[in-house]
Amino acid sequence: MEENSNFIKTIIKEDLESGKRDKVVTRFPPEPNGYLHIGHAKSIIINFGLADEFGGKTNLRFDDTNPLKEDQEYVDSIKEDVAWLGYEWDGLFFASDYFEEMYNRAVLLIKKGLAYVDDLSADEIREYRGTLSEPGKESPYRNRSIEENLELFEHMRNGKFANGEKVLRAKIDMASPNINLRDPVIYRIAHATHHNTGDKWCIYPMYAFAHPLEDAIEGVTHSLCTTEFEDQRPLYDWVVRECEMQATPQQIEFGRLNLTNTVMSKRKLKQLVKEKYVDGWDDPRLPTISGLRRRGFTPEAIQEFVKAAGVSKGYSVVDEQMLEHFVREDLKLKAPRTMGVLRPLKIVITNYPEGEVEWLDAEINPENPEMGMRKIPFSREIYVEQDDFMENPPAKYFRLFPGNEVRLKHAYFIKCEEVIKDDNGEVVELRCTYDPETKSGSGFTGRKVKGTLHWVDAAHAMPAEFRLYEPLILDSEEEEADDADNKSFLDYVNEKSLEILNGFIEPNMKDAKAQDKFQFFRHGYFNVDPKHTTEDKKVFNRIVSLKSSFKL
Ligand code: ATP
Ligand code: MG
Repeated sequence: MEENSNFIKTIIKEDLESGKRDKVVTRFPPEPNGYLHIGHAKSIIINFGLADEFGGKTNLRFDDTNPLKEDQEYVDSIKEDVAWLGYEWDGLFFASDYFEEMYNRAVLLIKKGLAYVDDLSADEIREYRGTLSEPGKESPYRNRSIEENLELFEHMRNGKFANGEKVLRAKIDMASPNINLRDPVIYRIAHATHHNTGDKWCIYPMYAFAHPLEDAIEGVTHSLCTTEFEDQRPLYDWVVRECEMQATPQQIEFGRLNLTNTVMSKRKLKQLVKEKYVDGWDDPRLPTISGLRRRGFTPEAIQEFVKAAGVSKGYSVVDEQMLEHFVREDLKLKAPRTMGVLRPLKIVITNYPEGEVEWLDAEINPENPEMGMRKIPFSREIYVEQDDFMENPPAKYFRLFPGNEVRLKHAYFIKCEEVIKDDNGEVVELRCTYDPETKSGSGFTGRKVKGTLHWVDAAHAMPAEFRLYEPLILDSEEEEADDADNKSFLDYVNEKSLEILNGFIEPNMKDAKAQDKFQFFRHGYFNVDPKHTTEDKKVFNRIVSLKSSFKL
C-alpha cells in the first residue's frame, strides 16, 4: 500500500538528507498502568511504521517510573497487544533499569547547581508556582548549598524521609512564561514496592525528567508523543542538555486519536473495569486492543483505520463508524458466510417427507470463490428469525405472513399456511408448504418472490449464543463534559450496550475455534468469543452489522 506523507515523515527525511541524523530510532513508551487502547495503536503504528520505512529501529520501552500504579499484568498484556498488532520491537527495555543512571544524572545536576532538595509540601509547591499571568515565587529552600543538597538527596535515596517530606527540583526559572520550567519536581519519595526493582528504591524520577533521559540512553532520534507534551519540550531539551547526555533525541508532537462514543483514558477504562460496568479489560465494548481483538477486529483493520485517520498536530474526534468500515473491508473476502438464527421461530414444512434430509450446496464466500463450497442440511423442520414473520404486516413487508411466499436462502420457496399460537396468543410455530420446483440453483423461473430469508435446519442445528453490542458511552461529548460540570462519564454509560440472544447455527460450524470470524447472512460479521465459548455452546460477538451509513 502506498504510504501517505505526513509532517513527521517530512522532518525525518530532512534530518537524514541534511546529515543531522544518520539513522532513525523510535520507541513506543507505554506506562504499564493499564491495558492499551486504540489511541496507543496510533502511537504504535506511527513509531514502528516510520522506523520501518526509513530502515530504522523501534524499542518497546516500559515507562515504569511510578510503582504505585504499575503491574506485571499490564506489562504482559502490552507485549501481547503490540505483537498482535503485527510489530516486532528491536529492544525491550524498562525505564526502571535506568534508575541508577538517572540518579547519577540528578546528582550531576545538583553538582552543577541546577537541582535542589525542597521541603515544601506538594500544595505549597503548587501555590508557589504562580499562574500564566503571575510569576512563581522561589522556595525558601532554593538556595541550599550544593553539599547540603547532595547529602539530603542521598538521604532521600536511603529512606530517611517519609513520602512527601522532600522532593528534588530542577533549578531553572520561577519566572519563566512556561510554567513547566518553574523548577519542576524531578524526584519524589515513594516507599512502595516496584514491579521490577522491588524495594531497592524509595525515590522515583518524575516523568518529565525520566522520559528524555530514557530516550537519550537508548539513542532514540525522534521521540514522538502527543500534543499535550508540547509545552514540556523546552524542559525535555533542558534535561538532555544539562544532564550532558551524548545522544540528543528530538521530541515531536502529534494529535491524539479520539473516538466518538467511548472513553479512552486509562483512568476511565480502569474505573469501568473495577466497578464492573464491563467484563474485564478485554470486554468487547471497550476500545482497548484486547477488547477490539475479542470483539473480532483485525490488526489489518486497525492499521488501515489509523492510517486513514492520518497524522497531524490538530485535535480531532474520529467517528467509530470509520473503524467499522475498515473491518468490513478486511473481512469481506476473508470471512466464511454462514447462516445463524438469533431469535428462533420454528417452521414445519408440512409437505416435506418426514425423516428425509437433503444436503444443499452453498458457496463459502460468493465474493471469494476460492474458499470453496459448504453443505447445508434441509429437512422438514427449520428455524427462521422471529422478526421475519408478521401476522398483520404493513405494506411492503416481503417476509413471511399468512398466505405469503418467500425464498429460503440456498433452498426452496416456502409459503405460510398456518400460524400456531400458545395459550397466551404468542406465535410459537408456523406451518408452511414448500415447492420442490423452486430449488435454489435449479434455474426455476416460474414466479418471483421478494423476500429471501436465512434459516437453520432444526434437526441438525447447533445451539449458539449471540452477543450484540451498542456503544458503551451514549454522549460523545462526555469526555469534555466530565471535567467541566459535575457529571461523571459514568452518567453516560449505556445500560443497553449488550444484548445476549440464544439461537442456532449451521452444523458445519462445529469446528469453529475461538477468534474465528464469520459473516452471518443478513446479520453482519461475528467473532467466536474466546472467553465464553464452551464445548457445548459457541458464543459469537457481533463485530459489526453489514451496513452503515458511513462514507469515507
Ligand atoms: P492515557 O492518557 O489514555 O492514560 P497515556 O498517554 O497516559 O494514556 P502512556 O502509556 O503514557 O498512556 O502512552 C504511551 C504512548 O501512547 C505515549 O507516547 C502516548 O502519547 C501515546 N498515546 C496515548 N494515548 C494516545 C492517543 N489517544 N492517541 C495517540 N497516542 C496516544
Ligand atoms: Mg501516562
